[in-house]
This record gives sequence, structure tokens and C-alpha cells, in this order.
Amino acid sequence: MQTLFLTPLDSARAAEILRAGGLVGIPTETVYGLGANGLNPEAVSRIFQAKGRPQDNPLILHIPEPSWLGRYCRDIPPQAWTLAEQFWPGPMTMILFRKSLVPDQVTAGLDTVGMRCPSHSVCQEIIRFADVPVAAPSGNTSGRPSPTTAQHMLEDMNGKIDAIVDGGPCTVGVESTIIDLTCTPPRLLRPGGVTLEQLRQVLGQVEVDPAVTRLMGAGEKPKAPGMKYRHYAPKAPVTVVTGEPSKTAAYIAAHAGAGDGIICFDEFMSLFTSRSAIRPVMDLGPAGDKEEQARHIFDALRAFDHTCVPAIWAQCPDTAGIGLAIANRLNKAAGFHIVEIP
Ligand code: AMP
Ligand code: MG
Repeated sequence: MQTLFLTPLDSARAAEILRAGGLVGIPTETVYGLGANGLNPEAVSRIFQAKGRPQDNPLILHIPEPSWLGRYCRDIPPQAWTLAEQFWPGPMTMILFRKSLVPDQVTAGLDTVGMRCPSHSVCQEIIRFADVPVAAPSGNTSGRPSPTTAQHMLEDMNGKIDAIVDGGPCTVGVESTIIDLTCTPPRLLRPGGVTLEQLRQVLGQVEVDPAVTRLMGAGEKPKAPGMKYRHYAPKAPVTVVTGEPSKTAAYIAAHAGAGDGIICFDEFMSLFTSRSAIRPVMDLGPAGDKEEQARHIFDALRAFDHTCVPAIWAQCPDTAGIGLAIANRLNKAAGFHIVEIP
């Protein structure tokens, strides 16, 4: 199959392909998504084939405005409307009870469905033109880092999907925050661009699912099925180092092998690029700018797949704000192989 490369001027064409049951790479503010008509079970099944995604890992339904929630969800609690008012359009997915018209292929047979209203203007336009909810997971091959540019997505999906729309680099850079509103108290299933602190301001008590911060043991079942899979993983093994930035940089400089890849804050680049100890390095952004770090994290992990580094070492920010999402993605890439510097 030839994958068409489209621009934002081709939104109507992309929508037509979706309506006809095709697969389209779609820019969003979080990461690029692999979209299909969310009401067409055959089209949705093709998403799983293109990604090599396990069948038990449900997809998120994308809608152009909050008023569409009632079409696909039942027993919507007042909190959902409050969250929608505060954070939609934007990088937040709500888990709600589904209506029966949502195909089992979208929800992996669950009684609930993940709903999101993205803010990217091109994404909004495509969904509105298509006039159907768009089911979309991240546009990477299953297990690889999520794509934050159209080029990244083509690396994984060229020849496997009908088209991709290049809407520029993603401005958030990590996937949406997932908040489950079908339980009490509400539960954070995946940290993202809308922070835990922001959710607590609106909802009061919010529990954090254990899968966010640690490896699930054998027999344990995280509430977001996707959280149990090794994720975001580059080819080389990753070690994450947490603690005060100058200490974590010094630790990595002392322990990394000569050819190892390094992911570090801007301030410490020179430590790894001096002539006596030159190593392949990807910068994450300034130590004090987590928004910038979020935009770079997947690019940094992906970049090392084009090299033959035997191992990767990464500095990790603290978990306040969007730091929780960055740490979660890094820790998952590392299989929770973490060194904590006191
Ligand atoms: P994604 O953003 O690629 O790559 O995948 C969507 C994520 O949403 C996965 O981690 C899923 O497990 C999660 N998800 C989607 N629908 C549900 C649901 N109904 N309940 C819990 N988690 C969900
Ligand atoms: Mg994904």
C-alpha cells in the first residue's frame, strides 16, 4: 500500500479516507495518532494489524466537542462535564461507561470507553469533516516510542496506512492524561499534559493507579490495559537516574561506558561531549523546563535506534507537574530500571 503524504490543506481528503474505512495518521497536540472511523469495526481492527497491537488494549475515541460525549457514553457523572469545561479541548482522556453503539473492537470488550477532545486545529477539522468519532492509539509500532512528528510516524507506518497528515511537531509531546471516572475516588491511569495537581484542584481526591509508578507483578492487572506492556522502548536497555540534576549528571558520567548513549538536561551536555569523553547525547531541554522536556522525550528515545549504542542512561526530572508523565515514560522505557541518588 502506498501511504499518501497530506498537508493540513488536505483535511477533507483525510476525512474522506476515514469515512471510507481507511487508516490515517493524524497530528494531535500530544502525539501523532493512528486514526480510523470509531464506529466501523473492520476499520478499527486494521489499526491493531498496522501497529501489531495486542487485542486486549483498548483505543481512545476522539471527538470534536464535549457535547458528543452523550452519543457514546452513559451515566456521565457531573465531574466529567466539569473536567471537560476545564481541560477540553486538550490533552485529557476520561474513562466513562460506554453505550452499546461503541464497537467492542474499540474498547477491547470493556464496558467503558476512553474519550478525548483534542485541541490540535488540524485534528479538530479532520474529525468534524469526517463527522464520526475517530478511534486512535498512538501512531507507533506497538512497543516503540510514540511519534511526535510525521516523519517519526512514517518510520513505523509507511506502506501500512492509507495516509498521514503532517501537522508539524506535537506541542505537548507525551500522550494524554487518562482519568477514570467510573470509580470512586477517580483514578489517574496515565499521567500526561493535564497534571495530577490540576485534576486534584477540580476533583478533590484522585488516586494514582500503581501501574503509573511501578512495574506490575505477574498476575496484577492495571486498569488501563496498555500500562502492562513494555512501552516506549528503544532497542538498547535504558537506566533512569533520579535526584538532584548535578548529582545525576555526575553519576552518569562516572558509570556510563565509553560508547553508551546519554539523555541529559541542556546544562550538562558539555559533560558528555568534551573531547576526552565524547558520547552520543540527546538533550532533553533545560533542567527547569519540564514542558520542553516532555516535547523531547520520545524524540530522544527514538534517536538512539538509529545508532548502535549498547546502553542508554537518562537524567529524569522530579515528579511534580508534567514531571510525573516524563518520569513515567522514561521509567517504562527502562522497564523501571531506576537508580535513585539521595
Ligand atoms: P495509546 O494512547 O496509545 O497508545 O493507548 C490508549 C491507552 O488508553 C492505553 O494505555 C489503553 O489501555 C488506555 N485505555 C483506552 N480505553 C480504556 C478503557 N476503557 N479503560 C482503561 N484504559 C483505557
Ligand atoms: Mg501508545
